[in-house]
Amino acid sequence: AKAAGRGRVVVFDPAMRAAAVEQRELERELQGALAGGQLRLVYQPVIDLADEAVVGFEALLRWRSPALGSIPPDRFVPLAEDLGLIGEIGSWVLREACTTAAAWRRQDPAADLTIAVNVSAVQLASPDLVGHLAEALRVSGLPASALVLEVTETALVRDPDAAADQLAALRALGVRLALDDFGTGYSSLSYLRQFTVDILKIDRSFISTIQGAALPPIVRGLIDLGRTLDLEIVAEGVELEVQRDQLRNARCDLAQGYLFAAPLEQADAGALLGRRPAP
Ligand code: C2E
Ligand code: CA
Ligand code: CA
Ligand code: CA
Repeated sequence: AKAAGRGRVVVFDPAMRAAAVEQRELERELQGALAGGQLRLVYQPVIDLADEAVVGFEALLRWRSPALGSIPPDRFVPLAEDLGLIGEIGSWVLREACTTAAAWRRQDPAADLTIAVNVSAVQLASPDLVGHLAEALRVSGLPASALVLEVTETALVRDPDAAADQLAALRALGVRLALDDFGTGYSSLSYLRQFTVDILKIDRSFISTIQGAALPPIVRGLIDLGRTLDLEIVAEGVELEVQRDQLRNARCDLAQGYLFAAPLEQADAGALLGRRPAP
């Protein structure tokens, strides 16, 4: 750091300089990632807790940069939003996920599989989203009822009125909406009143509090709330058998997590189809 008079310190040490250079390189690489074929989707199975059947998948985005290696979506999705790239990337994600899911549904028609796709705040605010979605459904042939769009509360706070209109337009196409990371925001409850959704995804931070024979009251409360509102309830981040058992006993509908499967490459996810749990 170098002193800049009047006791103020301009922080510009080698570590920060390196970080700034790295950030610029990341931005430059991300510009070419989609066209360069460096993005792909992986698919995490969604499990019916009643019989442990795979009932669907959540599509999760991956970026492997030849120059920088694998970058997690928590890092590059916000950057893609800042750089104005998320519209193009998000539209590709929708088409890719819908096309894959439509093929899986043809492969295993009895399963009535669903596919969930994450939609960022900037995407939700974009007037292009409904058109991109309709196009993805059209070219893939996926029935709208098989698609779930996952939105977070943070995507709703900025302009709640516009978000409500957008969600209504999406639901009018016949897709279902999930409130992702439920319980982690400020005002989860007021959002449930204001926005019509179909599915609640209980955040992993709550699921991880299930460690023994007693179901933590907050988890019980979230499940009861979803049930009262007639929403489908998905538990995220199930890692332990005790969590699975407690959630099943509490009549949570669906679950995802490493206990069942991590996000899988497309071929590995497809290989799960047609396998039915013993009745
Ligand atoms: P999310 O939507 O909450 O996704 C769940 C994250 O939890 C995923 O991380 C998943 O790999 C991870 N996970 C699943 N099961 C377990 C478990 O049992 N234990 C633990 N510890 N983690 C588990 P991932 O793939 O790194 O994605 C992180 C976030 O990036 C996502 O959070 C989502 O907000 C965002 N994201 C991912 N793909 C997309 C995308 O296509 N579009 C947008 N807009 N955002 C995306
Ligand atoms: Ca999600
Ligand atoms: Ca989540
Ligand atoms: Ca999350």
